[in-house]
Amino acid sequence: MLVDSHCHLDFPDLIADEAGALQRMADNGVIHALCVAVKLETLPGVLGLAERHANLFASVGVHPDNADCDEPDEARLLSLAAHPKVVAIGETGLDYYWHKDAPEWQRARFRTHIRAARRCGKPLIIHTRDAAADTLRLMREESADEVGGVMHCFTETREVAAQALELGFYISFSGIVSFKTAESLREVARFVPSDRLLVETDAPYLAPVPFRGKTNQPAYVRHVAEAVATARGETLQAVADATTRNFFQLFKHAKPS
Ligand SMILES: [Zn+2]
Ligand SMILES: [Zn+2]
Repeated sequence: MLVDSHCHLDFPDLIADEAGALQRMADNGVIHALCVAVKLETLPGVLGLAERHANLFASVGVHPDNADCDEPDEARLLSLAAHPKVVAIGETGLDYYWHKDAPEWQRARFRTHIRAARRCGKPLIIHTRDAAADTLRLMREESADEVGGVMHCFTETREVAAQALELGFYISFSGIVSFKTAESLREVARFVPSDRLLVETDAPYLAPVPFRGKTNQPAYVRHVAEAVATARGETLQAVADATTRNFFQLFKHAKPS
């Protein structure tokens, strides 16, 4: 039994075959998936999935890549996060790859999300790209360790992982860990303790080998887990058990169905 800790099932490529995606999850032993929000404009699609399917959960947040969009304040995030199927705040964080000018609005938005998460007690889903030092700095300044969360689609160094772990965060690996060139990431996957490990697809992006380049889907989290298991010298069963247990440990508001 596996859980996809991060997917975007509401995106057009996937929602077009909602029933098929759910069926393939079941066929591959993927019992749950967390549908992650990227902006408020598309939040109804995310919440709708979690309302229609007992085994799907949702988050509330605005992705750091989205420049011109509905900007939530803390009160708005809190009221949206009160939905019973919302188990996390995010995805939030910093992305200086797509925004090379490292804009102040990203940091302000990130702080707002951390404050909302601390107030409602729902953990953070953190996205960081080319911005590890600032991401960790803001996590510390805003006491993100008080609520915890996950560093999703982890692609940073072992040192960054160590600092996130020290703040009580979980580390989630995506299909990137299966890519031929990702040996340094596989080293990080070996380093993360089994009680802090998560797996995800980030579907429709980043399909794992052997589907690299195709549209990703939650069912493929099995191949992510296999790549993590191989890297760690463990069985798929061991990684599946640990990551499923960790998912419900971290996302306390997610009730297994
Ligand atoms: Zn992300
Ligand atoms: Zn994502």
